Amino acid sequence: MKVVIIGGGWSGCAAAISAKKKGAEVTLLERTDMLLGTGLVGGIMRNNGRYTATEELIAMGGGELFKITDDNSRHKNIDFPGHSHASLYDVGKTPGAVLQYLNEIGVNVVFEARIAKIDMENASILSVEDGQGNIYKGDVFIDATGTAGPMNNCTKYGNGCAMCILRCPSFGGRISLTGLAGIKEYVGKKSDESIGAMSGSCKLYKESLSPEIVNELNTKGVAVIPLPEDLIEDHLDIKACQQYALKEFKNNIILLDTGHGKLMTPFYSIEKLRRIPGFENARYEDPYAGGKGNSMRFFAMAPRDNALKVEGLNNLFCAGEKAGLLVGHTEAVVTGTLAGYNSVKFCEGESLLEIPRQLAIGEAIAYVKEQMEIEEGLAKKYTFSGSVLFDRIKSLGLYTINIHEIENKVSELGLKNIFA
Ligand SMILES: Cc1cc2nc3c(=O)[nH]c(=O)nc-3n(C[C@H](O)[C@H](O)[C@H](O)COP(=O)(O)OP(=O)(O)OC[C@H]3O[C@@H](n4cnc5c(N)ncnc54)[C@H](O)[C@@H]3O)c2cc1C
Repeated sequence: MKVVIIGGGWSGCAAAISAKKKGAEVTLLERTDMLLGTGLVGGIMRNNGRYTATEELIAMGGGELFKITDDNSRHKNIDFPGHSHASLYDVGKTPGAVLQYLNEIGVNVVFEARIAKIDMENASILSVEDGQGNIYKGDVFIDATGTAGPMNNCTKYGNGCAMCILRCPSFGGRISLTGLAGIKEYVGKKSDESIGAMSGSCKLYKESLSPEIVNELNTKGVAVIPLPEDLIEDHLDIKACQQYALKEFKNNIILLDTGHGKLMTPFYSIEKLRRIPGFENARYEDPYAGGKGNSMRFFAMAPRDNALKVEGLNNLFCAGEKAGLLVGHTEAVVTGTLAGYNSVKFCEGESLLEIPRQLAIGEAIAYVKEQMEIEEGLAKKYTFSGSVLFDRIKSLGLYTINIHEIENKVSELGLKNIFA
């Protein structure tokens, strides 16, 4: 069984691990020279309902990537406005640890393989081709290409290319496999109906901040600096991550320690920033033009069922942001794990797994699909860690941080170690 995964973000890496564990020969094709995609500049794990989803996946036997993020966390169990029991992984160390793990288990990771063409017969993909003309044949394919960029989308719908970690000018922009296969994709909107959403955080070089701020970050993991009225910028509505669209994130500079100072706003004028005590020399590490804008996302989501098979094609699955308006690393890992698992079940001719709605993961996958089918739902973003999905999970009684309770529920549903 040959599984070919396109896109080496968190969802593609998770899909690779679960497909490999289920016995497939796995090739993971990544456009750039590094794994983790937007996860290269993220870091927040286990906040709010993400804790529940993380422990559900661990109980189902799919916890490898969470072990890596836990092992590489700079801070654990921290609180910041609106968010509890978060962990912050080190964005410098984690990508290397993931690559090493994939190499160890025998996933064939190919860098600088930007898929730009496909060969199809009827509604089945036979092979994909990268920009250098290398052809990768497979029995089944997984689209984990994300929804961010390319540059012309950031220019058209955002504030221009902000020179972010996606590095489109160097490696070429994102290309959707689902799109190449001729499937009409969903487009996300903001609450004012305009297209796309802007990524919600930047990174500041810690070295450019005052020793007092650096010390607070290193010891507590979080620094909250109140802003005077004239320095407040309001970007809450345009954020992809609506879980941070709270007034605290407008009225304060909120920094988290992920190795750099993670600044919890889509962009912020560097001139204003440098007027705040302790930020006199502040410099952006990501995106380089963080004073002006950030990457734009959620342009192309695949229509799919709750087993994550793309509708309208025989042998394509999807994961991560591609699988819906799902924001986050945890969200990418859980959907990636399911897509990888089901891709092998598909090859074996077995019926595909849908995670039951009694679990936060199952509810998220099914609810997002329902929401994507209505106009109003396309204007929202969904994450275990806040906003509409977390509210829903809480109201359904699915949110818990009691690991024993989660393990029991997973066992009762017959899913204990299903991905192991
Ligand atoms: C600035 C920023 C900060 C964030 N912070 C957090 C955080 O702290 N915590 C959190 O949980 N979430 C955070 N997120 C959101 C989170 O990173 C994403 O929702 C999640 O990681 C998406 O994973 P993905 O695998 O679906 O997509 P992506 O991360 O977008 O990965 C897609 C991958 O596919 C590759 N690709 C695209 N096209 C092709 C092609 N044609 N051929 C080959 N490869 C291709 C890309 O290069 C990329 O590596 C953040 C996002 C951003 C942008």
